[in-house]
Amino acid sequence: MSEGSARSDLVAGYRQMMAAGLGTGSSGNLSLRTARGMLITPTGAAPATLEARQVVAMSLAGRAGAGQLLPSSEWHMHAAIYWARPDINAVVHCHSRYATILACAHRPIPAVHYMIAIAGVDEIPVAPYATFGTEALAGSAAGALGQGRACLLANHGQIAAGVSLDQALAVALEVEELAAIYWGSLAIGGGKILSQEAMMEVRTAFAGYGQQHD
Ligand SMILES: [Zn+2]
Repeated sequence: MSEGSARSDLVAGYRQMMAAGLGTGSSGNLSLRTARGMLITPTGAAPATLEARQVVAMSLAGRAGAGQLLPSSEWHMHAAIYWARPDINAVVHCHSRYATILACAHRPIPAVHYMIAIAGVDEIPVAPYATFGTEALAGSAAGALGQGRACLLANHGQIAAGVSLDQALAVALEVEELAAIYWGSLAIGGGKILSQEAMMEVRTAFAGYGQQHD
């Protein structure tokens, strides 16, 4: 993929994320791994007016070429995930409502619905709280993510990752849906959590049938 089309994909992904209701204003940020580091949305980017040329190219050590806008304040978090996970090529961060409600209550999302398998885990963990934009938060998020594709950030929001931007966005949408379902199940006395055996069967089926599940 050329850098030009990667920039356009990132802008389209940002608009898609906001159109899907995963954030308000300019909250949330997205990145894509590149040969030289990553492309990331600039700080304070408004989805309607963000242009592909405004996307920031930087190394994973934080070096950005001159004449660019400032990268998202969460660039440390994106870079830490790429350092830790060679299999991950895209990272999405947002403050979607239900994921954030659970994050504020420090409640991980258990296997209350089988679609949690999309996140690659049986329970979506909560990364311990650290101030936004800090290296402490980057370490906390990368640690909680582990080998999965999603985690909640305490008192903050959610992080979703994938081999592609499409996958990372699909995971972010699913995390928000799972969070809403779990929140709703708690409101009526608590959902019944699927067993490890049941989740193992789901993972096997997902591996065999890709995305062809409903
Ligand atoms: Zn945030």
